[in-house]
Amino acid sequence: MEHFSLPALSRVVISGGTHGNEMTGVYVVREMAKNKVDKIGSASRTTVLSNPEAVKVCRRYIDKDLNRCFTDALLSATLTPSSPYEIKRAHELNALFGPKGSPQAVDILCDIHNTTANMGMCFIFYRFDWITLHIFKYIQSKASFGPVRAIQFDTPLPEAYSLEAVAKHGFTLEVGPQPTGVIRADIYNMVMEALDLIMDWLEKFNSGRTFEGGEVEAFCKTNALDYPRDPTTDDITAAVHPQLQDNDFKLLRPGDPIFQSFNGETVKYEGEEAYPFFVNECAYYEKKIAFQLARKISISLPSISVTKD
Ligand SMILES: [Zn+2]
Repeated sequence: MEHFSLPALSRVVISGGTHGNEMTGVYVVREMAKNKVDKIGSASRTTVLSNPEAVKVCRRYIDKDLNRCFTDALLSATLTPSSPYEIKRAHELNALFGPKGSPQAVDILCDIHNTTANMGMCFIFYRFDWITLHIFKYIQSKASFGPVRAIQFDTPLPEAYSLEAVAKHGFTLEVGPQPTGVIRADIYNMVMEALDLIMDWLEKFNSGRTFEGGEVEAFCKTNALDYPRDPTTDDITAAVHPQLQDNDFKLLRPGDPIFQSFNGETVKYEGEEAYPFFVNECAYYEKKIAFQLARKISISLPSISVTKD
């Protein structure tokens, strides 16, 4: 098994409210900001409410989905007074915590999101990043709740569009089910526990502990399916089938029911075996996604430890 030594991790950002109606991150960040603990062991921890204007009105966004604004193209675009609010805010956040892809970027950025889908806690990331995957493995083994899963979006860094892409090691903590505009104590507790475990892992890593490698399972996004729609009006003509609803990460086989038309007909799945997730996510109706699909992969993690000077 390979071993890597990696630089110490000193700057951590916890962000919430990137989507203004996903309440766990909003309340977690407000609570942490109250306590004003900015140094935990060897690492500094900063909190940020990413989209304060959207949080004020409890909406996902004002002009444009902030969590789609961090591509290299959008971050390098010239701002004008008429630029969408979220593009301006993305530039500010990139200046504060990036610049994306640069040596000045913060070490860790954990962006807290909620989903209306029954997904439990998921780590979402772009690349096979050993730090992120080791933190994931640690939380999976220590958390008092379950399940904790990993999802990889196979997107090259220049096209990576979400906030965590500005950090050296960024990931989303996606937790559900929780309706938008609602705060659930059980989900709040899960996130607080995970954030404590992240700081705990960092302290152990920075103080020289070796984290053993091993296999971790992840779900690698392959494609997405839209709802059946009326070709003239574009209205959806079916809802997610009761047998698929709330069954995120349960293997979907050809012939399994996926939609139920409003006239009572069942629509069956025709693709290859895959794992559905973000099933019936509220925010994805506008994106024309009824659910996403993944294949399950196994990742061999090397052991890691901090580089000694
Ligand atoms: Zn979100």
